Amino acid sequence: MHRNLRSFRFAPLSVRMTLGVFALFAATVQAQTTPDDIVKRELATSRSYETLEVLTDNIGPRLSGSSNAAAAVRWATATFQKWGIPATTEKVMVPHWVRGIEDARLVSHRNQKIFLTALGGSVATPAKGITAEVIEAGSFDELKSLGSKVKGKIVFYNNPMDIDLVRARRSFDAYSKAVVFRSEGPSRAAQYGALAVIIRSVTSASLRTPHTGALRYDAKLPKIPAAAMAIEDAMLIDRLLKKGERVRMHLVLTPRTLPEVASANVIAEIRGNEKPEEVVLIGGHLDSWDLGTGAIDDGSGVAMVMETLRVLKEMNLTPKRTIRCVLFMNEENGLNGGRTYFANHKNEKHVAAIESDAGAAAPTGFRTTLKGDALADLERRAQALASVGAAHFETTAETGADTSFLVEAGVPGFSLVPDPLHYVDYHHSAADTLDKIDPKELAQDSAAVAALAWVLANR
Ligand code: ZN
Ligand code: ZN
Repeated sequence: MHRNLRSFRFAPLSVRMTLGVFALFAATVQAQTTPDDIVKRELATSRSYETLEVLTDNIGPRLSGSSNAAAAVRWATATFQKWGIPATTEKVMVPHWVRGIEDARLVSHRNQKIFLTALGGSVATPAKGITAEVIEAGSFDELKSLGSKVKGKIVFYNNPMDIDLVRARRSFDAYSKAVVFRSEGPSRAAQYGALAVIIRSVTSASLRTPHTGALRYDAKLPKIPAAAMAIEDAMLIDRLLKKGERVRMHLVLTPRTLPEVASANVIAEIRGNEKPEEVVLIGGHLDSWDLGTGAIDDGSGVAMVMETLRVLKEMNLTPKRTIRCVLFMNEENGLNGGRTYFANHKNEKHVAAIESDAGAAAPTGFRTTLKGDALADLERRAQALASVGAAHFETTAETGADTSFLVEAGVPGFSLVPDPLHYVDYHHSAADTLDKIDPKELAQDSAAVAALAWVLANR
């Protein structure tokens, strides 16, 4: 830079004028680059799917604390660097939970196998398993009325998702209603002396694939083992119990919680040329559950935000404000990446936080904490989003888990909303794999994130 300036000063006047005109021209091109140009370039040259393919097929499942999660951190850092984008890691301590054997049989019904999977964070049964009667509770009220009857039994929460809500494309509302049995159900049942808990998988579809997800033990109550059954198996047990039959299950779960591991968030950025200290954050989570390869949750979000920096770099664009990509670690079972990022960076000026953690179906728009004039102004500037169907903004209180700490501190939050119809069919199951992703839709999502980040960084 300095060397160039010096030679510029000593260059003949005509060369100096030519260079000056060129610089002016370059600056004009930069200023005139519209979000439309970014959308068009991304749709024409997207490499999001290629990025996602390496993350899911070559690295695979990325549960916090695993060697695959560590490999994903190394790969993401190296990939940014290969693209010419500076990237660093930020240390995050994470839990290290390892699934073990999972085996369940109905000893009362000819030893039929039940397809289930341990909930993330579950404690183990004794190595030889437990054998106990299954008792069904449709709600926490019903559990309460059963009271001491659940003592020494396996509590079965039959908690179907509201499929009408899913069909109305309110999958996340339906999910929130059903997921409380996964997060709180084990401790609630332990309160009445239950031996273990089995929930109906929190999903909108099933090919006998159970869905995992984190549970939350109440520290004051005994920790009991917990698992999610495939919908088909939950329906079988429900039918047997409704006929008045006694259902006894043999259950073996051998997960372990190992000592915490030092892992990392990956942070890469393109620094702004006018207000570099002001940051537009774009983020997704690098960890996934261990059953599938986390293509939907959240490899696709990672691919979109990495792609945003890649396409801006390819177009040789510098925003006014810094666009920073954060690949958070440990969203699934601890949120320690989001918490650590906030602790380390809360004094920096974040002007927006865009999170992508809702799959990669065709984009429909964004949720945002913005409202009123501020939102109307953004909608005017972000009309380019309409060309990929992403121009609809819905004001909500929450926009994402990893960025929730920033948003609670007053940073305007955004989250991409891909069509949610089939998201919960696959997520947290062994079926969350690359083949569920349409490369064209992923490119549209990436274009939407890139265009919105560009608008916010140049306002
Ligand atoms: Zn996620
Ligand atoms: Zn998840």
